[in-house]
Amino acid sequence: MSDPSIRKIVIVGGGTAGWMAAAPLAQRFAQAGQGACEIVLIESPDIGTIGVGEATLPPIRAYNQTLGLDGAEFVKRTQGSFKLGIEFRDWGHVGNRFFHGFGDFGPAIDTRAPWQHWLSLQRQVDGLPSYEDWSTPTVMARRNRFTPPEGGAPSAANAYSFAYHFDAGLYAACLREYAMARGAQRIEGLIVNVELRPDDGFVAAVKLEDGRRIDGDLFIDCSGFRALLIGGAMQSPFEDWSALLPCNSAQAVPSERVEPLTPYTMSTAKAAGWQWRIPLQHRTGNGHVYCSHFISDDEAASTLLAGLDSKALDAPRQLRFTTGRRKQGWVKNVVAIGLASGFLEPLESTSIQLIMDGVGRLIQFFPDQQFKPHLAAEFNRRMALQYESIRDFIVLHYKLTDRRDAELWRYCAAMPIPDTLAHQIELFRSAGRVAILDPDGFAEPSWVSLFFGLGLRPESYDPFVDHIDAQALLQHFVRLRQAITQTVSGMPEHGDYVARHVKAPSA
Ligand code: FAD
Repeated sequence: MSDPSIRKIVIVGGGTAGWMAAAPLAQRFAQAGQGACEIVLIESPDIGTIGVGEATLPPIRAYNQTLGLDGAEFVKRTQGSFKLGIEFRDWGHVGNRFFHGFGDFGPAIDTRAPWQHWLSLQRQVDGLPSYEDWSTPTVMARRNRFTPPEGGAPSAANAYSFAYHFDAGLYAACLREYAMARGAQRIEGLIVNVELRPDDGFVAAVKLEDGRRIDGDLFIDCSGFRALLIGGAMQSPFEDWSALLPCNSAQAVPSERVEPLTPYTMSTAKAAGWQWRIPLQHRTGNGHVYCSHFISDDEAASTLLAGLDSKALDAPRQLRFTTGRRKQGWVKNVVAIGLASGFLEPLESTSIQLIMDGVGRLIQFFPDQQFKPHLAAEFNRRMALQYESIRDFIVLHYKLTDRRDAELWRYCAAMPIPDTLAHQIELFRSAGRVAILDPDGFAEPSWVSLFFGLGLRPESYDPFVDHIDAQALLQHFVRLRQAITQTVSGMPEHGDYVARHVKAPSA
């Protein structure tokens, strides 16, 4: 083989995944020089995109920055708002409310996690305020404040991170413009057939309904739940996780913008699932994720509409899904990204994160035409770890609750869970420690937010924290709490910040 480089990449699908894959690849090959590698994206207007996916996690900022997308411009163009975390309502029990914020509960004390010290103090001081009072993003969210964190030494003013809420269609449009400006080509057409190479079963080309044949070296399957190449042509089996995550449907509806504009996503547990609320500049995104075994679609739609806090702008739109993942996301010369590679319900806004990490890993382990099998093996190993770790994190929400008031919750209380999650829960319950199985996944403060928020208090904690004098520790906590309150009081309202710095033209 004279030049083994990949000379043509075909991306199948133009949803969030397709364009999130196209943009960084186009950037890289544009930098490498004219004609280094052709990128072709095929999408079918007849099929369309899933049209949801509006809440993200903080690493989306790094993805945008790598592309050189200006933060303010991007938020304006996507009708975006800022996200400090997720407020959970009615999850541990009806009436329960807690916040999973993007940040820790203060700086480490004597190299030990601040929440370990809080546990120690709680046993010694009557009426100690909630651990949430030491989480800067939580205090900001409670008061609807937002400003980006400052740099410099760790302090109350920078002990948080943030992500975005955005209109998924507008985000894909931004990335499409970006990728096409760097040479990516877009083809409209319906793929009706996949041609395999007779010698090795690699994909040679896809064929469109109008007879066109699009060949390539590397095929990225971003065809959504259809999984045209990875599931169809490559026959990678789907590992079904419905027994652990029984929700299989959603109803989604936009409603009018609500004041104040909240800097967080809201997730409210319902009898047969949960409802999301995502604030954007031009509207509020809402959806009810539910298990169709426990509620009819009509009832699910009524529950959604009854739970809105503003006027619906449309009729609810129904979606069906199966939770799980492709056993291998990379087979031969096909790499699946996005819904084609798997789906975990959107409780922690992890799908776009999985897309970003999938694209990042593809670039990290980018093949040449020899497609060395160890590249695919490493990609698949890392994706499997990430999927399983996110699965455990989401299952935790359902498992660690006292709710028994409806069939879904009784089912979840009784369902067996993976050993990895059972270990995680017991480690925290018995010894107040967190196991991080996937270093790219949710960090310790996120797990602790969930454990504490759902009402689990460990039997013991890190013994090293008891070496610190309780009075000195209490004073430190009081001062830190004052600093957080004072800092947050000086921050603008989220809505004001958005209006002043990132107002969308039509908002
Ligand atoms: P799709 O958007 O379905 O795109 C598939 C593409 O493939 C389309 O362009 C289609 O035209 C093309 N295609 C398919 N078949 C063919 C064919 N035969 N020929 C040609 N083209 C074809 N993620 C988050 O991170 N945050 C959230 O808040 C969030 N909320 C969600 C809520 C729900 C209810 C659901 C179901 C998902 C949510 N997600 C969320 C996930 C998120 O929507 C997806 O990860 C994201 O939109 C990526 O989708 P996709 O591009 O893989 O697939």
